[in-house]
Amino acid sequence: MDYLPVFLDIRGRKVLIDGGNTLAARRAERALSAGAKVYAFDPEPQDELMALSGQDGLTILTRLPDQGDVADCAVVYGASEDSSRDNNLYSWSRAANVLCNIADVTDKCDFITPSVVDRAPIVIAISTGGAAPVIARILRARIETIVPTAFGQLASFTGEFRNRIAATIKTGRERRHFWEWMIDGPAGDFFLAGNRDRAQQQIETDLQRHAAGEANHVGEVYLVGAGPGDPDLLTFRALRLMQRCDVVLYDRLVGDEIMSLVRRDAERVYVGKMAQEHTMQQEDISELMVKLAKQGNRVLRLKGGDPFIFGRGGEEIEKLAEHGIGFQVVPGITAAAGCGAYAGIPLTHRDHAQSCTFVTAHGKDGMLALDWKSLIRADQTVAVYMGLSNLPTLVAGADKVGVDMSTPVAVVQNGTRDNQVVVTGPLSQIDALVREAQMKSPAMIIIGSVVSLRDQLNWSGQTSGVSAMNLSSATTPDVLARQ
Ligand code: SAH
Repeated sequence: MDYLPVFLDIRGRKVLIDGGNTLAARRAERALSAGAKVYAFDPEPQDELMALSGQDGLTILTRLPDQGDVADCAVVYGASEDSSRDNNLYSWSRAANVLCNIADVTDKCDFITPSVVDRAPIVIAISTGGAAPVIARILRARIETIVPTAFGQLASFTGEFRNRIAATIKTGRERRHFWEWMIDGPAGDFFLAGNRDRAQQQIETDLQRHAAGEANHVGEVYLVGAGPGDPDLLTFRALRLMQRCDVVLYDRLVGDEIMSLVRRDAERVYVGKMAQEHTMQQEDISELMVKLAKQGNRVLRLKGGDPFIFGRGGEEIEKLAEHGIGFQVVPGITAAAGCGAYAGIPLTHRDHAQSCTFVTAHGKDGMLALDWKSLIRADQTVAVYMGLSNLPTLVAGADKVGVDMSTPVAVVQNGTRDNQVVVTGPLSQIDALVREAQMKSPAMIIIGSVVSLRDQLNWSGQTSGVSAMNLSSATTPDVLARQ
């Protein structure tokens, strides 16, 4: 390690910035946010710096600094990009033994200004020792995406309980366990989900339980939507809970790529579920969840797409509520949205469809009798889940009630995954085309004139895979189209 990482307390202390440009403004902002008294010197300060004027603690002086200005500073920044100003500043700082940083001049830096992830009071500072600041910035962008925005507030919030915890829990080890449980358990989850009151209640309950000598590790269930298949489409919260669970119950729609992101030593239970082949009955799955949670496990119920869209998530939480088991539901990208985006079919479009209906062709007792006439209309898109095996019946049913058989249809198999296949054609021919392509489940049927946009957008010409990724900005969503 070439540099010693420290966080300086500069509250109320003097920080000098030589320069009036954007860089000077950024330095000033950061020093001000740490509570310093900032003096910025420049004969012609520019707009960004001037925009900060009036902020508490900031003084802008329209002259150059002199040796006397440096004497009692905590930190001095050279941001003028003028080498003679930099040289003066650095030698005055040396003489006064004041820490100095000259932007982009490594040998005139006593310290490095890191890339910062600010989740105050949590601050993560990244340095490459000056070797490659771009790498520090890319890394920062990545860390920004994995640390929940409210994590710093969680630190402040839990900090309010510090004294009570210290008074209630005597041994250091138990206290540490309690803190871990509080931050990485239900209370922390409630807080990060924006429910401060529930978080507070949970901590009160946990403290009372502890005082009564009861264990806090009561099981809970995470009902998590894993999206349609591409692991990049997981939510941050889904990933966090996947990394935390003790046991995972997953079904066929959750692929290996996503399963590989589940905590390595979590127990895995395959609960199957194909349209016809139910490896495990729904009631048995619900009962298993209840049993595992009651044993004190953190149970991850991982489902394809969104748990509340044809996912029977509603039935599962009814059972949990009946048994008083805590749970949280994490939405996922539903198959229709994923397939639309990755197949180049906007599900709504001002010129084509003002509404989009999600239907399933598969009911409790087989094929549903749907009103195709009112569903398949000029101004509406219909996304049919679990419809592949009933496609001939669907087409015949639509024909019978006089639906326009030239309506465009797309069938998307394995949407968003590497092996995505898209077949398009008019309603009258789609069944033959699907058979010819030997399409299999999971497949999404999208019906409506929006399907024609795929050709207009010349979608098959889009790039696929990571070549479309913009590495310099990990916070920008990547546009990936898979064919
Ligand atoms: N809860 C899920 C849907 C479960 S029903 C969701 O919100 O997406 C299962 C049906 O979803 C499948 O029969 C298929 O119609 C559709 N489906 C799920 N994943 C899919 C995928 N990757 N590609 C195409 N269709 C998919």
